[in-house]
Amino acid sequence: MAEFAGLGSRPLLSMEGGVEHFDPGIHLLQLWANVCIIETGEGVVVFDPGFEFYGPRVVQELKALGSPPVRYIIYGHGHADHAFGAGAIREDAEARGQPRPMIVAHENLPHRFDRYREMLPYHEHINRIQFAIPDKLPAFARNYIYPDLTFSSALSFRLGGLTFELRHAQGETDDTCWLWIPERKTVCATDLWVWSCPNVGNPFKVQRYEVEWAEALETIAGLSPELLLPGHGPAIQGAEEIKRACTTVARALRHLHAEVVGMLNQGKWPEEILHRFTWPQEFADSPYLKPIYGHPYFIVQAILRRYHGWHDGNAAHLFPASSRAIAQEVLRLVGDPQKLLTRAQELAQAGQTQLALHLADFVLDSNDQEPRPALELKAQCLQALADREPSLIARNIFLAGVRQVQKALGKEARD
Ligand SMILES: [Zn+2]
Repeated sequence: MAEFAGLGSRPLLSMEGGVEHFDPGIHLLQLWANVCIIETGEGVVVFDPGFEFYGPRVVQELKALGSPPVRYIIYGHGHADHAFGAGAIREDAEARGQPRPMIVAHENLPHRFDRYREMLPYHEHINRIQFAIPDKLPAFARNYIYPDLTFSSALSFRLGGLTFELRHAQGETDDTCWLWIPERKTVCATDLWVWSCPNVGNPFKVQRYEVEWAEALETIAGLSPELLLPGHGPAIQGAEEIKRACTTVARALRHLHAEVVGMLNQGKWPEEILHRFTWPQEFADSPYLKPIYGHPYFIVQAILRRYHGWHDGNAAHLFPASSRAIAQEVLRLVGDPQKLLTRAQELAQAGQTQLALHLADFVLDSNDQEPRPALELKAQCLQALADREPSLIARNIFLAGVRQVQKALGKEARD
């Protein structure tokens, strides 16, 4: 198995990263997201050109190969870290008097770009939290290069003696396309493979597709590839290893699907399902399923959202009172907020960090002044959760919470 180094180990905004070379003529440029370069006798295919700022780096790699003409640029899916690096490649081709590369993507990708353009401020906001991007830097893509050619379920073309078979799949996105090159027994998997528990249930993002993701991995395994180039992290080599990797993750996704759907069919409600679902030791121990980006709990949330409405089963929650009104009633009964805080501190010291946070929130929600001891306790609890959290997404949400509380503390201090 390739050395474990997935999404959690590479800085998002860095251009640092190595290149893995595979004979004959396959190159994996490993930055935060991977860029695949495939040489043929009649030019090059670039799969997943990456972030916009990767473009010059891709051109640099192409120069090292003698600047062969780039004939096709394929977007594996429309996320900002995969489908925005085409501009520099096209400009370089133009400067060299080479033909303009054709950009190919799944037919849903232009709709994604349209949505991103409509909701740029929202995506700026959530990606700044998800990836801990500093305020002074843009947090989302702005320059959209739409594909020249789109397809629905599959598209094949030949170039320089190689066959490029593009297949659509739903997985992390509804516009995913993965690539199979039969003559090289090679798959470019984009984010169907990221060396992490699959990012099915991202807390900020639109619906993702657990069963279809499993199907795609099973289809890939069925082709017996010898080389799998992932969307993030190092390549996987060898048919046996690739099969084991893909089928393990597929089984894990099918397991969570069966757990949630099974409990829904028994009449269980989301809260019970979220506390009762199982994650077998085999998956917890698997190097393919480390919760360093996605998380099994997030996957369960996504499956619930997909098949279940938003009612949680308690009729008292259908039109709930505000957190503030509830907290004020609780505080009225308790009398002294310090009582709640003392108990919250006891819980925090006993390692019951989550419960401690809920109690601190009663104090904060009930009082516009946001008492300083409650803020301090909240910051301390969120920091403790961040410190032991392996998932980059979850950790960054906790840290954003710490920053928010610190801001409130600073404001209070200035006042
Ligand atoms: Zn990605």
